[in-house]
Amino acid sequence: MMENLLNQILIIPGFLPALFFVLGACIGSFLNVCIFRLPRQESIIFPASHCMNCGAKLKPLDNIPLLSFLFLGGKCRYCHAKISWQYPLVELLSAILFALAAIRFGLQWNTLIAVILISSSIVVSVIDYKIQIIPNSISLPGIVLGLLINLIPSSPVGFLNALYGMALGGGLFYVVALVSRGGMGGGDIKLIAMFGAFLGWKNCLVTIFCGVLLGSLVGVTLLVLQRKGRKDPIPFGPFLCIGALISLFYGQEIIYWYLHLTLF
Ligand SMILES: [Zn+2]
Repeated sequence: MMENLLNQILIIPGFLPALFFVLGACIGSFLNVCIFRLPRQESIIFPASHCMNCGAKLKPLDNIPLLSFLFLGGKCRYCHAKISWQYPLVELLSAILFALAAIRFGLQWNTLIAVILISSSIVVSVIDYKIQIIPNSISLPGIVLGLLINLIPSSPVGFLNALYGMALGGGLFYVVALVSRGGMGGGDIKLIAMFGAFLGWKNCLVTIFCGVLLGSLVGVTLLVLQRKGRKDPIPFGPFLCIGALISLFYGQEIIYWYLHLTLF
């Protein structure tokens, strides 16, 4: 009876994406906490959310994803200090990507992997962009979780494939790090190993391909516009994360397209 009702609700057009949009906004709110606290080695659970300026504890009404920022006009209710645009942006991005995952995968195994990869990619990208660090507290548990998830028999990737993905991604980047002598950071090595563990070896290659392509395009553009010098490091983590999400959503299609491109 309950299951029947649930199935009836789930087939309402747009219900699942809408549900995931709200879920994504709420998780995005938590991701903001992770982005702030993980690099500082602070607990992500205690203390409760508070204003960065005056320290006032946020009431539930001040803490509604996306909406509170609008209601409060981007300012703290108590001290009127400006709240960073990062907060609503992260919540919105998370909400949109969650909804897209629901549209692409519906409710299946890949949806869980999508939710984990989207969340960790957002946190890693913002932290790497801001302070050029990829926290081990995400990538190392991520590697283990990726392998464990693919140990479950109904996983589309499979455990061996996940193991190959982790080894291939991590191994390739390790060699690049050795050859380039510091051009590739240890954080990038562990991050691609994590993506490999979740996505398998083929999609790991798609991730690297997309990440390098995007990174080069943006790097060259910044050089041409003289926004960055030749020696300025550009964090690679965000591009790898975008590559992983492209691979998650369209990896199969890209591999299919590539194989047919080389055959004819
Ligand atoms: Zn305040």
